[in-house]
Amino acid sequence: MVKVLEHYHLGENNYKIIFDVPKLVKKSEPGQFVVLRVSENGERIPMSIGDMDAKTGALTVVYQILGKTTALLATVKPGEHIMDCVGPMGNPSHVDKKGKYMVIGGGIGIAPIHPVAKKARENGNEVFGIIGSRTQNLLFFEEEMRRACDHLYVCTDDGSYGEKGFVTTVLQRLINEGQKPDFILAIGPVPMMKAVCNTSRPYAIPTWVSVNPIMIDATGMCGACRVSVGGVTKFGCVDGPDFDGHLVDFDQLTSRLKMYFPQERQSMEKFEREHQPCYIGLKESPKQTA
Ligand SMILES: Cc1cc2nc3c(=O)[nH]c(=O)nc-3n(C[C@H](O)[C@H](O)[C@H](O)COP(=O)(O)OP(=O)(O)OC[C@H]3O[C@@H](n4cnc5c(N)ncnc54)[C@H](O)[C@@H]3O)c2cc1C
Repeated sequence: MVKVLEHYHLGENNYKIIFDVPKLVKKSEPGQFVVLRVSENGERIPMSIGDMDAKTGALTVVYQILGKTTALLATVKPGEHIMDCVGPMGNPSHVDKKGKYMVIGGGIGIAPIHPVAKKARENGNEVFGIIGSRTQNLLFFEEEMRRACDHLYVCTDDGSYGEKGFVTTVLQRLINEGQKPDFILAIGPVPMMKAVCNTSRPYAIPTWVSVNPIMIDATGMCGACRVSVGGVTKFGCVDGPDFDGHLVDFDQLTSRLKMYFPQERQSMEKFEREHQPCYIGLKESPKQTA
């Protein structure tokens, strides 16, 4: 059983949860993920590490309610326990010295780029961060990212906060202004990661992305999370989650994510009939604070 230390509602369907997992934190590196099981018979869901504190053993995950299990997770109160939190899984991100190291986070993808930005800076990179969301109340970790990066650019699709436009609008502007990064790590929704790769490709900027395929065991046995990378089948869990974005088949990734949609919808509808709205009892997070 794993104790929940803190749990906040961030905005709309986004939540931040902090677990007490000292042994796991000791071994974790930026870019890795954990697998959560909320209840004994529940499904296992992969979640990226959004922050970790080696001194206290606290591990932060930011998640979005999409279906039954994430909705169930949002009912767990601070002080209560979930069944398990397994990890660290997957390979760490490349955070060695590149020079101008850019992290780009879209939506929920802002969380996993945060520890990567911190580590890349520790390793002597000049870190550029771009974070973006659809609208202001979906934005989080701005202060944390300001601390982690040398330069931070914030944008929203609707212009309600920061620059108006997509993360790629900012990336293109920086390239035009002569701030071409030496390396990009982009994490977020599949269309966003694809757009970042399309923007960086003409400039031959090495661009890695963290893929989020449907994943079941996360140990390389089931094959559910297969992704085509340069025409070769890879497993998101053991070969990734980071891959060279210029080689990822994003269209196949998108279609595989929709594979179980009817079953997932059915399961969510049943859950909603049986449970109260999820966020009841959780505190609102202090504005954009970890
Ligand atoms: C390595 C990895 C790291 C991840 N990190 C995070 C994270 O930090 N925060 C977060 O909110 N989510 C993250 N995800 C996605 C998360 O695991 C899914 O949202 C979750 O499993 C959905 O479970 P559910 O039962 O609530 O929804 P389901 O009922 O299983 O699915 C509901 C909807 O979500 C989509 N979905 C299902 N599985 C995934 C998936 N793996 N990725 C994206 N969409 C999915 C379905 O297509 C469907 O539309 C990560 C996924 C991977 C593979």
